[in-house]
Amino acid sequence: MYTVPKLKSYTATALDKASDSLLAALEKESSAVRNEEDWKAFRDRWMARKNGVLTQINDLWLKQAPKDAKRDVGQRVNQLKATVTATVEKPRSGAVATAKRAGDSVTARASVAAPSLDSLDITLPGIRRPLGAEHPVIKTAHEIVSVFRNLGYSVQEGPVIETDYYNFEALNFPPNHPARDTQDTLFIARQESKPQRERLLLRTHTSPVQIRTMEKMKPPIRIVIPGKVHRNDPPDASHSPMFHQIEGLAVDTNITFCDLKGTLDHAMKELFGSSVKTSFRPSFFPFTEPSAEMLVSCFICGGSGKRGSEPCRPCKQTGWIEILGCGMVDPNVYGFVGYDPKKVSGFAFGMGADRIAILKYGVDDIQLFFNGDVRFLEQFG
Ligand SMILES: [Zn+2]
Repeated sequence: MYTVPKLKSYTATALDKASDSLLAALEKESSAVRNEEDWKAFRDRWMARKNGVLTQINDLWLKQAPKDAKRDVGQRVNQLKATVTATVEKPRSGAVATAKRAGDSVTARASVAAPSLDSLDITLPGIRRPLGAEHPVIKTAHEIVSVFRNLGYSVQEGPVIETDYYNFEALNFPPNHPARDTQDTLFIARQESKPQRERLLLRTHTSPVQIRTMEKMKPPIRIVIPGKVHRNDPPDASHSPMFHQIEGLAVDTNITFCDLKGTLDHAMKELFGSSVKTSFRPSFFPFTEPSAEMLVSCFICGGSGKRGSEPCRPCKQTGWIEILGCGMVDPNVYGFVGYDPKKVSGFAFGMGADRIAILKYGVDDIQLFFNGDVRFLEQFG
């Protein structure tokens, strides 16, 4: 163990020699530090005010030095102090030096504190864990779901990886329907040897859950299906290869198009305010007949198509916004699930949660929802 010698001579050579052996001892003891306890002992031995090595060189070297050598010795002692302090405080791997740097940033403390649980200093401030908040798309999806829950609908979910059968065939897509094209649908690779109906794909809509539910349950059915879907769309301001849909299905006896209109009109007033008007125009989907697109009067410009003197962009100045697709369930679909189309009827509808969140919050790029930039997401917290 190194002890501070008394100096017999104060020549430059003698001071060099004394400094060198002190620094060699410092290096050796520093490299022997293995854990926090070692480090504390090391720190105290060199830096303790009472009898630490630094105090000793001050007492034994500087104070004892003859007047004409004091300036030189003083400079050397200062240099040695700086070196010793830097060596004691240098960042060390593992548990060492936790106590010294306790006041530093959260990340530094988190990374050094973990391995030293056996010597945890419970007086250290805790690690701050920021509170999270609902993602705007999930929040919007929950709001839509709750409107239908209040109407007595229950929530159903299903797999994101689906078979061709549930995603297309049982929903009345004919064998060569273009939606199956790889331009539109993301298929799981290397399944060419399987029959088409068994091939796996990322579901392109939440509609397969309608089939899965009707296979399990008899009417009356009233369900909403929130979930993630995928399409082979390159990402841009209004497209994402992954997005969120919410579908609904009601099947019972004597369900008519009036029920569809009344239900959706009520839902839109709940979502966008009681002054919102709805309008339907004919459309086509393989699994509904007749099919319609529903529009709501623009809740941003109040249907005028203008915001002050500026044109209203979300409704493209028409005063109407396309919000969902819907229709009466095609009788062919009942054939796939063992329902009798002469006895039951029903309607289905589907909308994009991301699109509605975009309209609601005035966001101009769907990518912002999925980039994971906390600065953007915090605005909705
Ligand atoms: Zn508008």
